[in-house]
Amino acid sequence: MAFEGLSEKLQGVFKKLKGKGILTEADINDAMREVKLALLEADVNFKVVKQFVDSVKEKALGQDVLASLTPAQQVVKIVNDELVSLMGGTNSKLTYSPRGFTVILMAGLQGTGKTTTCGKLANYLKKNGKKPMLAACDIYRPAAIDQLEIVGKNVDVPVFTMRDCKEPELIAEKAMKEAELKGYDVLILDTAGRLQIDEDLMNELVRIKQRTKPHEILLVVDAMTGQDAVNAATGFNEKLGIDGIIMTKLDGDTRGGAALSAKSVTGKPIKFIGVGEKFDALEPFHPERMASRILG
Ligand code: GDP
Repeated sequence: MAFEGLSEKLQGVFKKLKGKGILTEADINDAMREVKLALLEADVNFKVVKQFVDSVKEKALGQDVLASLTPAQQVVKIVNDELVSLMGGTNSKLTYSPRGFTVILMAGLQGTGKTTTCGKLANYLKKNGKKPMLAACDIYRPAAIDQLEIVGKNVDVPVFTMRDCKEPELIAEKAMKEAELKGYDVLILDTAGRLQIDEDLMNELVRIKQRTKPHEILLVVDAMTGQDAVNAATGFNEKLGIDGIIMTKLDGDTRGGAALSAKSVTGKPIKFIGVGEKFDALEPFHPERMASRILG
């Protein structure tokens, strides 16, 4: 599971603090140096680490923490609260159209888990009383359309395709009409991926966005790629504008830094996390639960 190394190190730091009883300013400084190292080793963005540690230190030294009866526990609480706020504070929910028909555009680089996540999201929505439909808007790889069809079968959600059409925005538009006509209330658009961000990909996504006016643009990123995932999110957000992030593969042995840095670096919240290959392995992202998991 993600965060194992970070979790172990932070717990070690706090154990040491708790063992001391009375704490001095030097103890806090030492502990914060260790927290800083642990976060850097977990691949958290260095600017984020600096802000985080400065903020914890200021709170730990500024309040009556050291004079209190349980200084170490209060330091742990400060770190916990800062972790929660770093990850966005509260759970960021999906935005649905007030009109009743919601379009979700899914973007992401190849291999991040985008197509699988479309299926997971459809499955999640179905479990939450929605009637989703999927649409295959990748015009480059016929195999991608096949894959989405298999995904659709697996979660028992229909998949709209137009195999001979070379205009993804037209496919998306037709899919919207079809979905509304047939009484579906959420349309999930699976789009083409690339190995890296390029202008063609962005222009294509912008065209789909203009044509479909999605209520949610979700970017799928792979936690295992660390800061590259955060950089991808920054790039997509600048060029396309995203509403949230779905971070996949947090079940792997990723160090977790991407999950801790994404909100602070991009300004966009992680809305869901992928925690396995199965279609039910998608969870709404709860910063406070993640912080408790890290701190043990
Ligand atoms: P795409 O190219 O972005 O559409 O990626 P795919 O949907 O084809 O997924 C690539 C691989 O990642 C597949 O083997 C998926 O099963 C796997 N995958 C996707 N999400 C997760 C996840 O949350 N955890 C794990 N362990 N594997 C995942």
